[in-house]
Amino acid sequence: MTATNWSTLLKGKHQLSLRLFLLLNAFSAGFSMISPATNTQHITVPIVMVLVVSLSCLLWQLVNKKKLININFISLIIGLLWAGHIYIKVSAMPNKDVSFLIIALLAILFIGAISYINNIQAFLAACLPVTLTIFWLDQGANWPRLLYSIVLPGVGITIQHIIHQRHDNFTRRLMNKLLEEKETLNDLSMLDPLTGLNNRRGFKNRFDTLLSVGSGQHYILLLDIDHFKAYNDNYGHNMGDKALTHVSAAIRDAVRSRDVVTRYGGEEFMVLLVDVDAEQALQTAERIRKRVYDLNIQHMFNKSVATHLTISIGLAALEQHDIEEALRKADGALYRAKRQGRNSIFVSETLLPAQTETAHF
Ligand code: GH3
Ligand code: MG
Ligand code: MG
Repeated sequence: MTATNWSTLLKGKHQLSLRLFLLLNAFSAGFSMISPATNTQHITVPIVMVLVVSLSCLLWQLVNKKKLININFISLIIGLLWAGHIYIKVSAMPNKDVSFLIIALLAILFIGAISYINNIQAFLAACLPVTLTIFWLDQGANWPRLLYSIVLPGVGITIQHIIHQRHDNFTRRLMNKLLEEKETLNDLSMLDPLTGLNNRRGFKNRFDTLLSVGSGQHYILLLDIDHFKAYNDNYGHNMGDKALTHVSAAIRDAVRSRDVVTRYGGEEFMVLLVDVDAEQALQTAERIRKRVYDLNIQHMFNKSVATHLTISIGLAALEQHDIEEALRKADGALYRAKRQGRNSIFVSETLLPAQTETAHF
């Protein structure tokens, strides 16, 4: 989940609160009309509008699920309508009924608090118009009781808001940490732990990206360390591992950063040379062969066969992004390189014949 998804989730949560707010208001408006607290003027234009606006917004949200309603704006409109209703009703009363004012205030605060437990702005937008109207209508006669009625939920909501924000921040931090760890694991699972080169998965990932951007000519090199089994047998597996890391670094250093070097198997490597011509590819293969030879890693298992750790290379063109076919050809070329005495390069027959000639050492 990304940060954008996170904010979408939060917005969705607030929209759900709005739905609850609209539903409670529709019920409250309907109930006030059917069973009013006092008999004077129980159906007013504002209360009918509360019902109509709430139901229409609810319906609109059901139809247009993706479109968001401005919560503060709609809460303020409904708050103002309730204030209008209370004003008309109290004005029509022969004597101002304080208990009606308190009940009306509590009902509005109750709906606001239940719906917007985590949204202080929407709560104030919904409740302030009614609260101020009631203070004004009461002319300060019952201000301690009225003040108590608004301050209590106001403080409660503010504290809830802070608690929720702490939870949100904690969850967000946790999510970011998980995302970071996921990225690290992803990187690790694409790299070979011994050599730090791409593994096959890492190669596939780089190859897919390459296909989506490049359109030039690419070449594949398959490289295999010569007589490596004997090296392991002679010097031990740990020395074998060390030699592998040195050879890997030499290959990596001999190519450009855009070329993709992969540990293809135990002591086999693959290099994808990006955007090069046949001659450059062959020169790079030769550079790699020489760099490995120049590492001067002793390999004295049979002086007539080898004195240094060396590498054999098969080279093939990558055509029509067909990596399987290119690998098959490079593998054939590698086999020929081994057969012609190792520490050598062989270019797949399908390349230009002139270059094939130069490839034989
Ligand atoms: P060739 O010249 O024909 O390639 O001969 P080779 O001995 O290199 O080929 P072979 O396939 O017979 O042996 C490969 C050896 O590479 C066998 C295995 O012990 C060694 N090897 C493969 N992976 C690792 C590794 O991760 N660490 C070490 N130390 N050795 C490895
Ligand atoms: Mg091998
Ligand atoms: Mg080998």
